[in-house]
Amino acid sequence: MTQEAWLSKRLSDGQVLCQACAHACKLQEGEYGICGVRQVQKGELQLLVYELVSAAHIDPIEKKPMFHFLPTSKAFSVGTIGCNFSCLFCQNHSISQYPKENSHKIVGQKLTCKEIVALAIEHQCQSIAYTYNEPIVFFEYTYETAKLAHESGLKNIYVTSGFETRKAIDLLAPFLDGMNIDIKSFSDEFYRKICGARLKPVLEAVKYAYQKRIWIEITTLLIPDKNDSDEEIRSIAKFIASVDTSIPWHLSAFHPTYKMLDTPNTPKATLRRAYKIAQEEGLKYVYVGNIDDEDYESTYCPRCKEKVIKREGHIGQYVTNKLNEKGICCYCGYKIEGVWT
Ligand code: SF4
Repeated sequence: MTQEAWLSKRLSDGQVLCQACAHACKLQEGEYGICGVRQVQKGELQLLVYELVSAAHIDPIEKKPMFHFLPTSKAFSVGTIGCNFSCLFCQNHSISQYPKENSHKIVGQKLTCKEIVALAIEHQCQSIAYTYNEPIVFFEYTYETAKLAHESGLKNIYVTSGFETRKAIDLLAPFLDGMNIDIKSFSDEFYRKICGARLKPVLEAVKYAYQKRIWIEITTLLIPDKNDSDEEIRSIAKFIASVDTSIPWHLSAFHPTYKMLDTPNTPKATLRRAYKIAQEEGLKYVYVGNIDDEDYESTYCPRCKEKVIKREGHIGQYVTNKLNEKGICCYCGYKIEGVWT
């Protein structure tokens, strides 16, 4: 189903500029954006996947991962096809790269914005997560759904690569309660060669979303010999700390997939090394993920050091929460930063 992509602008030379992400595609009649789901038709930019999902599931919030956001709650999670990145290690490449790898074919199951909200309520979810593929490429669909979700008392979460423009963040901010943003590397070369993107807009988006008071958590997939040097890990940690030492950082294990089948799994020792570096740089909440390591996926009170949220399991989904409903540590009274109600 198509819908006019109103986050766009007609240029004096007749091209149409998409203002959703930092690629800033300038498109002529009939052309598709890099994401493959936005196309100029009859002089207007159209979103081709409006109300067309590729996947819809009820997930534990911990799976996003969001660890300081309504722990133990469920997130109604939706995605479409298409992506503005082309990561060689994408775990969801069958949907994210679908239009590019199938001659711009558009597929999906019809699910209206209203139906998403109704299903979330029916299944006792406290939030809607826009995830599986990059949500900014289906911005208008997320925006309309998020607005309705807020009217029904649900929260909204973007799980994103952080390529949103300021304009997109401005529009989303009133309805977006949380974002998990990937910082995939601290090297622009990595972003260009491995992801088909750039580093700087991601760092800008993190800072801007933070300024807009959206709750942020960061994820970095550590890939052996690609982005796992002490120096690079420390650079990312320093950047996060420069924004706020309370931002949780998820260090995630790579498993061979898609076009990186020859790269080995991330050893547990690498994740623990990165964890230590992050702590040295002053980050208060560091987690390892995609691997079973209970002591490293639990939350510790920064003041009294007690384990206040115990998480177990591959995605930390088995949770024992020792915080009260305001996020206060039951041992010493420290307020753990996050979204708790
Ligand atoms: S959302 Fe798609 S069309 Fe728009 S700028 Fe990004 S890649 Fe280009």
